[in-house]
Amino acid sequence: MFENTPAPAVLDKLTTTIPFNSSFRYVAQVDNGRCIGCGVCVAYCEANAATIGYGYLSQIDTELCDGCGVCAFECDFEAIAMTASTRWH
Ligand code: SF4
Ligand code: SF4
Repeated sequence: MFENTPAPAVLDKLTTTIPFNSSFRYVAQVDNGRCIGCGVCVAYCEANAATIGYGYLSQIDTELCDGCGVCAFECDFEAIAMTASTRWH
């Protein structure tokens, strides 16, 4: 079942479109080649799923991520993509 949907404002930045009636959900995924470790995504993530981790790069805890897409929207470096995952918590 399609249980989470990113906020409308971020939909145009999504790189993955998940069909309805699928068992997938959205999770944020960081491109380490683009991330500069600025921490903006950490500041905006209300689920506390984003942290600055090893190598001063953003790390997303996919168990905590609710797929809202705000981090992808706020990242000025287009370092976060919303991708499909079958994992659920
Ligand atoms: S906002 Fe973007 S560049 Fe900044 S830490 Fe997060 S993913 Fe990296
Ligand atoms: S998609 Fe939302 S919940 Fe997931 S890491 Fe980004 S801001 Fe946090």
